[in-house]
Amino acid sequence: MVRDVVIPDVITVQDLAQRMAVRGVDVIKFLMRQGTMVRITDVLDADTAELIATEFGHQVKRVSESDVEEGFLAAADAEEDTVPRPPVVAVMGHVDHGKTSLLDALRSTHVARGETGGITQHIGAYQVTTEEGERVTFLDTPGHAAFSAMRARGAHVTDIVVLVVAADDGVMPQTVEAISHAKAADAPLIVAVNKIDKPEADAQRVVNELLQHEVVVESLGGETQIVEVSATQKIGLEDLLEAILLQAEVMDLRANPDRSAEGVVIEAKLDKGRGPVATILVKRGTLKRGDIVVAGSAWGRVRALVNDRGEQVLQAGPSEPVEVLGLDHPPSPGEALAVVEDEARARELTEYRERVRREKAAVPVGGGASLADMMAKLQNKKVSELPLVIKGDVQGSTEAIVSSLEKLGTDEVRARILHSGVGAITESDVLLAKGSGAPIIGFNVRASAQARQLAEREGVEIRYYSIIYDLIDDLKGVMSGLLAPTLRETFLGNAQVLEVFDITKVGKVAGCRVTEGVVRRGAKVRIIRDNVVIQEMGTLQTLKRFKEDVAEVNNGMECGMNFGSFQDIKVGDYIECFNVESVARSL
Ligand code: GDP
Ligand code: MG
Repeated sequence: MVRDVVIPDVITVQDLAQRMAVRGVDVIKFLMRQGTMVRITDVLDADTAELIATEFGHQVKRVSESDVEEGFLAAADAEEDTVPRPPVVAVMGHVDHGKTSLLDALRSTHVARGETGGITQHIGAYQVTTEEGERVTFLDTPGHAAFSAMRARGAHVTDIVVLVVAADDGVMPQTVEAISHAKAADAPLIVAVNKIDKPEADAQRVVNELLQHEVVVESLGGETQIVEVSATQKIGLEDLLEAILLQAEVMDLRANPDRSAEGVVIEAKLDKGRGPVATILVKRGTLKRGDIVVAGSAWGRVRALVNDRGEQVLQAGPSEPVEVLGLDHPPSPGEALAVVEDEARARELTEYRERVRREKAAVPVGGGASLADMMAKLQNKKVSELPLVIKGDVQGSTEAIVSSLEKLGTDEVRARILHSGVGAITESDVLLAKGSGAPIIGFNVRASAQARQLAEREGVEIRYYSIIYDLIDDLKGVMSGLLAPTLRETFLGNAQVLEVFDITKVGKVAGCRVTEGVVRRGAKVRIIRDNVVIQEMGTLQTLKRFKEDVAEVNNGMECGMNFGSFQDIKVGDYIECFNVESVARSL
């Protein structure tokens, strides 16, 4: 029976056998007869695979690697298949204006309503239900950094931004930042003027200050809703939810629940008891237990779904946040998740992505990979980069480390994070690090035995930390070492040109008098005319007193100097003499 065998750029022996509907050992035997020993898990290149498939009598269809990605996310749904879905809301604002309090207040008043137990747990997002039974999903990861990190990965999750402004403090720098983030994301704002219970609360002031940042509230003819709330006194929460739902209605948010699920990773961690756990926000379709899902380079069969109240559920629909258990490792936040047909498809996708990631990151810098080597190697470059692979115990700390390191960077020196992730340091991390000559930083995680041996063999340095501050401090030291030293000048003296002699074979010689300090042979000199530096000369080679070479000449004495090829010396010029020392710098 002749089959159409699809062959990607690389394929395992097992996959190829499966696609030809033969046993793996038949392929192995065939290759053995050709003089090649392979194992069932070995990868074959497309040419070899094609040869085998043709020999087995099948039609071959070659596909390019990137075709693998095709169809991972499906085309848009037909309008008639969609139904309204709850809005997804992010809460942003200046520090201490009450983001966390507001999220907590909404959760405690509206989540547990009518639920048994009602124990809430932190899963990165939760849903609240209004008195009318309408639902709103809140992302429980306040902060612009998380928001923009998601956006940077191309994840569009937030429909509406609630901007929290404290009524007693008004618009502050991070309020402005939040406005910019929301605008960049095209997400409409709803302003929650918080702490309205305070005697010094002044909502009108907030309105006026917002106006300066082009946020025009409805009472002034604009489009932005504004709601006065108190998170601690639980005032205005229902009004805020109503405003959100009104905005959602205007936006006509819809999704098709009756299809295979697609979603976005909100958070992921390695849980001691439960293994990799990813919080997924379902964007469309319905995610079910038993589905085979892929997110980034992670995949797995959904073993369990846990909602924001810690209850096991069988499925999750559009805009519902849910914890997914059963992935092989924690994916990165912002990564798209989708259900795929089968395990083979999941493997094909994840193996391809893993390969692409490795190729992208593996910009070889060369050999050694200890921090000391790196410093030595990079010291002479203009912009120095410290390549790093970072593994941490939870997504939160890993992201904190990465962003702190990124903040350390300047125009001249910066950390280049080749890869950051959650979980033990693996052989793949070591290989990645080796490829770029990077050390590996482990925060509260250790290397597996195999990874440790590989690192020793390959000369890749692994450093362990358990305190973020220590880690940052150490790396700051290393990066400081990469900074080119500052050159500091010390003034030695000035000499004035009294006369210029033209001497055959030697050229112009300046007869000078030292008017300040000393001039010294071997020191640096520059020529100054009318208080303007007209020439930087380098070191002073010739310094004479009455035809005698001398090492230095003191204030008030006369001397002769020659400046090699620089012949434009004039009477009245000053020769400034100085030393340069290099001073180590730190960040
Ligand atoms: P965040 O930094 O934006 O997350 O702000 P928090 O939620 O941590 O709140 C900062 C401080 O403001 C805490 O001490 C809260 O108790 C207080 N706070 C928050 N909301 C209110 C409110 O509505 N009224 C009053 N009086 N205090 C509030
Ligand atoms: Mg907070």
